[in-house]
Amino acid sequence: MDEGVQQCTLVVVGRCQQTRKLFGVTFKLQGFSHWVSEWAFPIEENVDRKRERYVEGSVQGSFELVSGYPGCPHCKNPSIFQCANGHIACWDGHTLFVACPWCGSSGKLTEKIESMSKSSDA
Ligand SMILES: [Zn+2]
Ligand SMILES: [Zn+2]
Repeated sequence: MDEGVQQCTLVVVGRCQQTRKLFGVTFKLQGFSHWVSEWAFPIEENVDRKRERYVEGSVQGSFELVSGYPGCPHCKNPSIFQCANGHIACWDGHTLFVACPWCGSSGKLTEKIESMSKSSDA
């Protein structure tokens, strides 16, 4: 199911909280189930997304945005969060009460991004 993508790289699709535009966050696998990102890029809604394989929804492992991470390509938010339904959105890094631009679900963030996709079978 990973045809066409290097095994050690994945792109997670996020949606900008401010502009509601899409962006991709590129993660590279460093070590066991530890994903590190130093890159995000805008995605045009009308681009043929079959060309690349994007992951929507939760991904197993831990996630880290390194200092070189450029922030949201649309509004420069420096971080990302994952809503209760597994959607990724940009995040300003300090607002605790957030609304998901995908599904509208809102809630208080209680965990840092590093644990956003910890496995539920733990
Ligand atoms: Zn944004
Ligand atoms: Zn959501």
